[in-house]
Amino acid sequence: MASIRAADTEPEVYVRRVLHAGGFRFRLRPRSLPGRPDLVLPRYRLAVFVHGCFWHRHDCTNVRVPRTNTAYWRAKLDANADRDRRNEALLAQAGWAVRIVWQCRLAADTATLLADLRVLRERTRT
Ligand SMILES: [Zn+2]
Repeated sequence: MASIRAADTEPEVYVRRVLHAGGFRFRLRPRSLPGRPDLVLPRYRLAVFVHGCFWHRHDCTNVRVPRTNTAYWRAKLDANADRDRRNEALLAQAGWAVRIVWQCRLAADTATLLADLRVLRERTRT
């Protein structure tokens, strides 16, 4: 049986729907960019990651390291977070702005992202 593709998780679909409804064009998970951001808006050179709190070790109450195999999980989640930081740095070096939408504040982060994109769109229009 095929595993569930990470690219089709619910929070991502939500972000796509909101941005699309706002009239923004984006590409999904481009292979050419570090960490393959969940979506990118090339026109604004903006990369967006939609992160699950557990796997990406968000500093929030959703994240509790499992009580069994604690050392394993801690190392794994630390490695994930380190990789995230590295990819964000590489993207920044390449001139991309990076935004994170966290699962625990999906609606709020997406609303902020949309508002910022609208400002950028207005600026590039004039
Ligand atoms: Zn969180």
